[in-house]
Amino acid sequence: MADRQPLSFIQSPPELGNEFREDWLLCAWLESALPGRMLDEQRDVFDELGRRSGGEWYRLQLADRLNEPRLEQWSPWGERVDRIELTPLWVEAKAWAAEYGLVATGYDASPGEHARTIQFARAWLFIPSTDFYGCPLAMTDGAARILSDAGNRELAERALPHLLAREGENFWTSGQWMTETIGGSDVSGTETVAQQDDQGRWRLTGRKWFTSAATSEMALTLARPEGNPDGSRGLALFYVEPHDTDGRLQNIEILRLKDKLGTRKLPTAELWLDGAPATPVGGLDRGVAAITPMLNLTRTWNAVTACALMRRGIALATSYAHKRRAFGKRLIDQPLHRQTLSAMEADYAAAACATLAMVGELGRVEHDHAEASSALLRILTPTIKLGTARDAVACASETLECFGGAGYIEDTGLPQLLRDAQVLSIWEGTTNVLSLDLMRALAASGIEPWLETMRARIAQLDDERTRELHAIAFRALEQVPGWLDHPADVLEANARAIAMNLYRTTALVELSGLAHRSLARGDGSHGRKTLVAALHYARNRFSLDPIDTHGTGWSLTGD
Ligand SMILES: Cc1cc2nc3c(=O)[nH]c(=O)nc-3n(C[C@H](O)[C@H](O)[C@H](O)COP(=O)(O)OP(=O)(O)OC[C@H]3O[C@@H](n4cnc5c(N)ncnc54)[C@H](O)[C@@H]3O)c2cc1C
Repeated sequence: MADRQPLSFIQSPPELGNEFREDWLLCAWLESALPGRMLDEQRDVFDELGRRSGGEWYRLQLADRLNEPRLEQWSPWGERVDRIELTPLWVEAKAWAAEYGLVATGYDASPGEHARTIQFARAWLFIPSTDFYGCPLAMTDGAARILSDAGNRELAERALPHLLAREGENFWTSGQWMTETIGGSDVSGTETVAQQDDQGRWRLTGRKWFTSAATSEMALTLARPEGNPDGSRGLALFYVEPHDTDGRLQNIEILRLKDKLGTRKLPTAELWLDGAPATPVGGLDRGVAAITPMLNLTRTWNAVTACALMRRGIALATSYAHKRRAFGKRLIDQPLHRQTLSAMEADYAAAACATLAMVGELGRVEHDHAEASSALLRILTPTIKLGTARDAVACASETLECFGGAGYIEDTGLPQLLRDAQVLSIWEGTTNVLSLDLMRALAASGIEPWLETMRARIAQLDDERTRELHAIAFRALEQVPGWLDHPADVLEANARAIAMNLYRTTALVELSGLAHRSLARGDGSHGRKTLVAALHYARNRFSLDPIDTHGTGWSLTGD
């Protein structure tokens, strides 16, 4: 047998640095959005999160790659136990999430309207190395919001200290059990029934089809109180603690864990509720309206996750481009590859600015309760969730391609980026469902809350260096009212195109605004980068006439 050739070449893998310091966009945004003293107070935490995320957590994540949650349904002696064993990283992630106040910080009073910016900047750094632990945190945040505002003192006193705890042993996460076999986008047909037992205790019976974070200590769920009418108005919002004090499930069976394309560390279960004890959060109807504050927050977390995953892909691809050689040069020195990475950076920068602007608005709404801000946030939330989700999938795909064949190989850890990103445009509302939600928001408030804010933002782009951005953003903005001036059926059929263009316009305006503020502050390094990103985005990402008015009946599918 011929001798094996000696290994003359070994490719050095991509490496991550301090994920805070290297995220120029996040740094630029925080410098422009937070008062100087506040940022200085937070800097050590951001720095530590950035270091751990690019260092020990990333290494743990790679080491944990093949582990998955495991469902043990039966004990060796025939007892039904339904225990889920989490992956090692997930067990640790809960304590880290509490320690860094990833939910609690959003409810801190001292930073005032900036509490949400601080919270989500921390989450931004935590999310990419912790295997979608952001999912239970999103639902926990949503539950905390609902229980803070619902006026149910008993439930608030019981659960809020846990949901907002900063020590792992006290910290609870919450599930959100909405989707049933009959529908996730449309929950009006929910089949789970709520009945009172002889002691007056409410008990839920039915099947929940997708319940992520199935190990959470509490959940909010929808059920139809016996005798209530059909449809979503007949549903009520219930609070459930799945386990008793001994850790046994209370009249709940875990039927199975879902076998998913991605997010595989996240235990997503099908549950059978067999008279599970529950408490109404508020009234006994209008449950969908009651759970909406949770959806608004999970959609915000979704956008933050999309940006954080884009950032991770770009950081890895950029590191690799400095190491990998082709045709006699490093990839980073190949003009076309460099341009490819820059386009990814521009998309990231735009997505990040749109998202951070929405987060800032959320902070203002929660702090000031201003009506105008609420109407704007109502428009921004579905728009930015759906736009960032789609950009994250495209960016993950481009990231894998940046690695050539290695991007397709499982033990590099890279394919997981693409599989995980795909969920972002499905859960918490698909692209179509959110586009229609946006149409409902626009029907209620009109486009003015958005239009006025965007106009005020671009009016500030009065600098010579931002003149081209001003012109493109102005043209994009002034098209929008015309898009909406169509009959309802045309609007419905074009809702996705309108939503995507609204997203891109918001992103361009916010990115241009950041470029302007950075330059005006004399921050040359951030200013130049942001300006280049904004110009690239402005020149490449717009379709100024997205509406198809050739009738709504056109279809290449069906009859
Ligand atoms: C990994 C994972 C975890 C999840 N975890 C949870 C969880 O913890 N809790 C929970 O409650 N749910 C969870 N879900 C469920 C998720 O929220 C739903 O799957 C999602 O909302 C879509 O609902 P559906 O599956 O019923 O799709 P459908 O509503 O059947 O949608 C199918 C397609 O039809 C389109 N569509 C639907 N209505 C319209 C319309 N009116 N006009 C145009 N197009 C339309 C949609 O865009 C989609 O493309 C999870 C899902 C996944 C994948």
